Amino acid sequence: MSRLRFDVVQEAFKKKAVDVELPERRPSEYFGELVFNREKMHRYLDAKIYTALVNCIDNGEPLDRSTADGVAAGMKAWAMEHGVTHVTHWFQPLTEGTAEKHDSFMEYDGKGGMIECFDGKMLVQQEPDASSFPNGGIRATFEARGYPEWDPMSPVFIQDDTLCIPTVFISYTGEALDYKTPLKKALKAVCDAALPVCRLFDPKVGKVISYLGWEQEYFLVDEDLYATRPDLMLCGRTLMGHASSKSQQLDDHYFGAIPSRVAAFMRDIEIAGYKLGIPLKTRHNEAAPNQFELAPIYGEANLANDQNQQIMNVMNALARKHGFVVVFHEKPFDGINGSGKHNNWSLGTDTGVQLLAPGKDAMGNLQFITFFVNVLAAVQKHNAVLKASIASATNAHRLGGNEAPPAIVSAFLGRTMTDVLRKLLEVPSDTPIVIAGKHRKSLGLVEIPEIFLDNTDRNRTSPFAFTGNRFEFRAVGSSANCAGALTTLNAAVAEQLLQFKADVDKAMKKGAALNVAVMDTLKPLIASVIDTICFDGNGYSEEWQKEAARRGLDTEIRVPEMFKAFTAPDSVKLFTELGIYSEVELQARNEVKWEIYAKKVQIEARVLGRMAYNHIIPAALQYQTRLLDNIKLLKELYPSSFDRMASVEMGLVEEISSLVTELKTGVDAMVELRKIANNAPGEYETAARYYDVAQALVGLRSYIDRLEELVDDDLWPMPKYRELLFIN
Ligand code: ADP
Ligand code: MG
Repeated sequence: MSRLRFDVVQEAFKKKAVDVELPERRPSEYFGELVFNREKMHRYLDAKIYTALVNCIDNGEPLDRSTADGVAAGMKAWAMEHGVTHVTHWFQPLTEGTAEKHDSFMEYDGKGGMIECFDGKMLVQQEPDASSFPNGGIRATFEARGYPEWDPMSPVFIQDDTLCIPTVFISYTGEALDYKTPLKKALKAVCDAALPVCRLFDPKVGKVISYLGWEQEYFLVDEDLYATRPDLMLCGRTLMGHASSKSQQLDDHYFGAIPSRVAAFMRDIEIAGYKLGIPLKTRHNEAAPNQFELAPIYGEANLANDQNQQIMNVMNALARKHGFVVVFHEKPFDGINGSGKHNNWSLGTDTGVQLLAPGKDAMGNLQFITFFVNVLAAVQKHNAVLKASIASATNAHRLGGNEAPPAIVSAFLGRTMTDVLRKLLEVPSDTPIVIAGKHRKSLGLVEIPEIFLDNTDRNRTSPFAFTGNRFEFRAVGSSANCAGALTTLNAAVAEQLLQFKADVDKAMKKGAALNVAVMDTLKPLIASVIDTICFDGNGYSEEWQKEAARRGLDTEIRVPEMFKAFTAPDSVKLFTELGIYSEVELQARNEVKWEIYAKKVQIEARVLGRMAYNHIIPAALQYQTRLLDNIKLLKELYPSSFDRMASVEMGLVEEISSLVTELKTGVDAMVELRKIANNAPGEYETAARYYDVAQALVGLRSYIDRLEELVDDDLWPMPKYRELLFIN
């Protein structure tokens, strides 16, 4: 190992866990302390203002200016008690992460002094923002400004000295420039569509809620080692690196003891998360070395997604205190598991019913089957756009890799539910659906086994799996904003439920009883989903690729092509009729996606090219020189047995020389590919060409990884996988 590399690795290895200051109070006592939640509203707002705000949050009533002023005054009083001096509208642009622009509370008081100021106008809408966020041409064409506007459904929170106001971000002409706006529209659409369906079964239901429980996977890399890898620093993933002799084959990391430095980091995240009202529940090692997971108790989807964005920010910030960098990239290291962000998704009612779990009686079970089947039908119809909703340059490395869902959206039901669906097709439509064991054995019933909730029949290869009381959308990437996937999923389900309700109404008008009308409407859907979207086999197999294509599912693997699903006629109809995206927005968002895709690949290509020229080729040539010196000496000193004695060196020199040549030629060819891509006429064309560049990177790394195996460890310029991944 080179002296320099050795020093960095040794320093990293010697680091001890950072002491975490544990609060004296219990988590339940400081939970939500930094959030302007109902309890704070009650305490800091007068009764009239409180009622108006709650009415706005619960029922979507608009806030008038004087109420907004009252709310702002209460928030300001609360914030200043916490030492807050600044305020920001906090939003989720189409880049990764969140955006904020801080303004201090300071204003002239008109008497020669200063005063802290924060009123309703500042709360509800910040000054237009002229800085550049991706907009797919919308702002260029219409108006060069974006407006952040408060989303009262997401509580205001404090981060350090700043009051953060979760907002939507829209253009002057009303197009959404963020993730939150369409998500909120889709959530409203699905809840509005589900409500009349629920009322078929229980007229007392007043509201349907869409839930999200995310599972955030991530890698931790020691910050000193991280700083030695330009690829990790600039691309978020390693572009080269030979597999470590030991990686995850012993399965000794998953659920293993959490290393002490990491445990301290996790404790810190939890303290910060609880203060922000994030109900963190689970922490554990994941399958790959240095890979971990964090998950909260699920909650209302818009808020849960905000909280995911918040916790990602908290993790980034706190990691440095512990000497780590968090890597959210979906595939930071080749050859070991990548990271996802499973989106556990369900619908529930304000009467406490989980709509994707068996009910209390036969009608409750019929309601469960109704929602279950309609979700599958929605996923079937919109499988291509659902895949597009999780596609990105970074997630592309994970999808289709052996641990992750394949690049085909299918649904896994497990044996139990598959059998129930098959049985439903055979029996008369008025057959009661019961929970096995809870009734006297009799024929003529459809049974759902009671052990059903412990259904451990998991299939890791499925992108969309039923797990007892929810669906788990596993294909979502670890770095993604969940809103992309959730907007699409909720929209698809909303459309399907509207259609379903209309069909049931029609059947009932013709005189059918409710349960018969429902089952008659479900049967063709069941027959179709079983043969199309439902797949319980191995998602990686080659047969599945062929079978999926035969079933009419989308099997596209090229990310730039996948995005086109957003503007296919069925998707345009879906999103425009539900009022979630206009056609302009759909087109603009695709432009943004193509642009981001191309830029990410472009950065990777540049970094790899420079690392090849500046790091790898010099190291290889240096080693080659050593070998050649040795060969020269052998020739001088042992002229007669030289051939035999120098055979290893000669072989190495030849292999290195040919690898270096291939690498150099490959990099130069890739630069040419990039030139072509950069000159392509539009965003799509550029991205499509950059797809070829991305493929070329795979070939180039193979030369480098082989060189890493050959070149003297002493000369290798960067920490290897075995050093990056096994130090905590
Ligand atoms: P696993 O890794 O086995 O899937 P985890 O415990 O890591 O399970 O994560 C499960 C996630 O699913 C948690 O965030 C949990 O709160 C969430 N969840 C549980 N029930 C529901 C539900 N009905 N709707 C949405 N999310 C749910
Ligand atoms: Mg999990």
